[in-house]
Amino acid sequence: MTIIDGKSIAATVHAETARQTAALVARGVTPRLAIVLVGDFEPSRIYVTNKRKAAARVGIETQLHTLPATATTADILTILRGIAADASVHAAMVQMPLPPQVDTAAVLAAVPARKDVDGLSPANLGLLFAGQDCFVPATPQGCLMLIQSVMQSIAGKHAVVIGRSNLVGKPMAHLLLGANCTVTIAHSRTEGLPAICRTADILVAAAGQPQLVKGDWIKPGAVVIDVGINRVDGALIGDVDFDSVAPLASAITPVPGGVGPMTIACLLKNTVYAAAKATGTAA
Ligand code: NDP
Repeated sequence: MTIIDGKSIAATVHAETARQTAALVARGVTPRLAIVLVGDFEPSRIYVTNKRKAAARVGIETQLHTLPATATTADILTILRGIAADASVHAAMVQMPLPPQVDTAAVLAAVPARKDVDGLSPANLGLLFAGQDCFVPATPQGCLMLIQSVMQSIAGKHAVVIGRSNLVGKPMAHLLLGANCTVTIAHSRTEGLPAICRTADILVAAAGQPQLVKGDWIKPGAVVIDVGINRVDGALIGDVDFDSVAPLASAITPVPGGVGPMTIACLLKNTVYAAAKATGTAA
């Protein structure tokens, strides 16, 4: 059984991003990412700090726009209009979740498509669905890389994705479909989930339910990707019960140290792609 080392694979992605960034800088283009942070939600602040630190390490500049927890949808749209008009900013993202008074769908729709490195605008998700050139949302993009790090070919394999959010589950399913897997998407209303999971060659758990997936849900030899990040009594717990699942899996991601590091790595990879595309400069 292989424990998939997300940190090490992410380090490889960061190294390539740093190389591409240096090549862009040498041509006079410094990739610049604008991040919009609304409110005081502590995990969001930590994620944003980590993204900015990682960006700085690979040579990407960040521009932070902070708004108070009382910000309105209109306040955020004003910031996004400024970002859209600023040619020196190549990439933009709005840290989720937004406060309850904000219309999240309207905000995501206002992220300029050519700068939407999180890939969550409806325009970008449509391109992904259509199989066209787009920004692939970072977390599922990272998961696919982790799967491909331990499987030579995934064509024809049965992949089960637990979760159907726009952030993880749906784009994950589309990426696996694009890689010629046979895909089942499961969710909270799915009947007989353990039996469905037992047919999975690849199982991606993105339900936000601590230790939902148990050892007796696993087909021997399956590759198991645990996207879940659940804070339980101060500890980070995945959606997979690692101790019972690991002995059956051929490969599994740990939490932390699996999918998490890939998410930032793929966000920055998308940022360099956005800068190269916007400036017509091959990275
Ligand atoms: P959401 O809450 O938006 O979606 C959860 C999905 O899981 C829903 O589709 C829901 O079904 C389904 N679900 C919930 N409970 C069950 C259940 N008991 N059985 C089957 N399906 C269930 O979460 P996200 O997609 O945003 O995130 C999922 C997890 O991934 C979270 O733990 C999150 O913290 C983590 N995450 C980790 C990242 C990383 O970098 N590692 C990045 C992003 C997210 P329904 O649609 O029917 O409600």
